[in-house]
Amino acid sequence: MSYCDIIRDLAALYQDGTASESSCTAVRQHLRHCPQCRQYYRICALKETKQRGFGKINIPKQGEIMGNYEALAKRIKRRRMLTTAVCAAYVWVSVAAFSVLLFVRSRNRR
Ligand SMILES: [Zn+2]
Repeated sequence: MSYCDIIRDLAALYQDGTASESSCTAVRQHLRHCPQCRQYYRICALKETKQRGFGKINIPKQGEIMGNYEALAKRIKRRRMLTTAVCAAYVWVSVAAFSVLLFVRSRNRR
């Protein structure tokens, strides 16, 4: 394994920003003096940029997540109020109909 191979392996870590400071220094120094590795690094960097551009994942920010939860909470609250109102109206109509039925029956008995 040549020194160029080692630098090319480290170049991926250097590009990701995960290489140690001493590895970064070694990569930078080598790239200054080795045109083959410099060319390799440029091609890798270009591929990485293209991959990042195509494989972009849309991660919502914290505020957007909270906005979605607030909108969902509002919808749930609204639906709960609507359900309660419909149930109350149903009970009220039932009681009214039963009262009317009792009134009519008591009137007919007389
Ligand atoms: Zn090299």
